[in-house]
Amino acid sequence: SKNGGRNRFSYFTPDLQEAARARQNMGADMRAAIKAQQFEIVYQPIISLHSGAVYKAEALLRWRHPTRGLLGPAEFIPFAESNGLIVEIGDWVFREAARQAHAWQATIDPSFQVSVNKSPVQFRRDADMYEGWFAYLEELGLPRQSIVIEITESILMQGADQVLERLKHYRAMGLQVALDDFGTGYSSLSHLKRFDIDYVKIDQSFVSQLETDQGDLALCEAIIVMAHKLGLKVVAEGVETQGQRQLLLDAGCDYAQGYVFAHPMPAAEFEVMARESIKKIGG
Ligand code: C2E
Ligand code: CA
Ligand code: CA
Ligand code: CA
Repeated sequence: SKNGGRNRFSYFTPDLQEAARARQNMGADMRAAIKAQQFEIVYQPIISLHSGAVYKAEALLRWRHPTRGLLGPAEFIPFAESNGLIVEIGDWVFREAARQAHAWQATIDPSFQVSVNKSPVQFRRDADMYEGWFAYLEELGLPRQSIVIEITESILMQGADQVLERLKHYRAMGLQVALDDFGTGYSSLSHLKRFDIDYVKIDQSFVSQLETDQGDLALCEAIIVMAHKLGLKVVAEGVETQGQRQLLLDAGCDYAQGYVFAHPMPAAEFEVMARESIKKIGG
């Protein structure tokens, strides 16, 4: 057809050619980056709202690109997913986070936990990585419950039965699981029961208007009550003000993350902060 012909032609326009070249470069750069150790992890404290102490961290990936500067995950994870490198990168993140958790169990607290994020594409592709990971945890002598895997509800879109089966497997093997970005997308309170999980993380979009939006406050309160009845702990994400912190504490929320406490930071800085927070409560 005329339309199809035009589309085929437009595939070769300079803009798209350039975009394709940029994608190719990104793939080559990324392959080199793994070898050149340009990936880094920053850690954001997960604060116990009740005590203010920090016994948990979320690992967040960064790429120190030689020409483009420090890149956040949104700038390269989608490429890594489309070219398949996400599996290799995810493998590095898991091992690095486990190594760090092990170090912090000695220097911060024996129960220290580190969370790692796993995208739906990763979840689908890295099934055969788990044996290697468990062997690595064994080698470190790190208890498996020290690692929390953060997934989003959107993994349910890939075929619920298979996903639930694999989640059950991880849990049976001893890893913990957090349901990330809760309340967004194809969200449903029934997921809290259907998924075999340990933590639910209330998405930032419900936290940011807490002080002015009665509806958001009611939603957060309902999620917390429901989660607790099901035996889950609740983490509020993106807490930016003291007012939000107080409302979440009053609502019985267990943990919080956000700029009002701390931005994600390098491991050395994190360690100092966490130790201080525990000293303060007399631990
Ligand atoms: P996420 O898992 O929901 O992580 C929370 C994001 O919110 C992080 O952005 C964090 O820096 C940011 N944040 C924390 N506190 C606040 C706050 O008070 N206000 C605001 N506005 N933002 C806050 P970041 O590091 O850019 O990560 C973005 C997303 O990239 C993450 O969202 C996660 O989905 C993904 N990601 C990060 N690391 C990895 C990784 O190793 N693997 C995979 N697959 N995805 C990752
Ligand atoms: Ca997360
Ligand atoms: Ca999140
Ligand atoms: Ca998010």
